[in-house]
Amino acid sequence: MAIQRTFSIIKPDATARNLTGAVNKVIEEAGLRIIAQKRIQMTLGQAETFYAVHKERPFFGELVAFMTSGPVVVQVLEGEDAIAKYRDAMGATNPAEAADGTIRKLFAKSIGENSAHGSDAPETAEIEIAQFFSGNEIVG
Ligand code: ATP
Ligand code: MG
Repeated sequence: MAIQRTFSIIKPDATARNLTGAVNKVIEEAGLRIIAQKRIQMTLGQAETFYAVHKERPFFGELVAFMTSGPVVVQVLEGEDAIAKYRDAMGATNPAEAADGTIRKLFAKSIGENSAHGSDAPETAEIEIAQFFSGNEIVG
């Protein structure tokens, strides 16, 4: 497997509980490098664009409200097989189903407030990274 990049968000439930460093520790211990990172307040428009794929789902309104409810930390992660590796490190969407030691098992509050986002494919990773970072903000 080649070196890949993936897009990550440390979600508002985690930043509110001062868990940015704790999440980053899990990321780094999984063998991923944080090659770009910034703390932002997402706008409603940014959240709606980011989660547009879910706009017909019943939880869409709740999801964009949550993602704009407080600061998030957006990141680019790099490493061998980074997309799958980060989804493994995050664990299942529902923390009740997440494996021990994963970000969501350790920190998530619920299926909605689940502490982290990670891209699901190379195409989405590229689009998501471009939504939040310009090239010179990413230093691999
Ligand atoms: P993410 O895209 O955030 O990495 P994921 O790929 O594991 O998560 P998706 O199915 O893409 O899960 O859902 C996107 C996000 O929408 C979830 O992470 C969660 O915050 C929220 N979500 C998903 N299902 C529900 C639900 N049933 N109720 C409330 N929120 C939900
Ligand atoms: Mg997803």
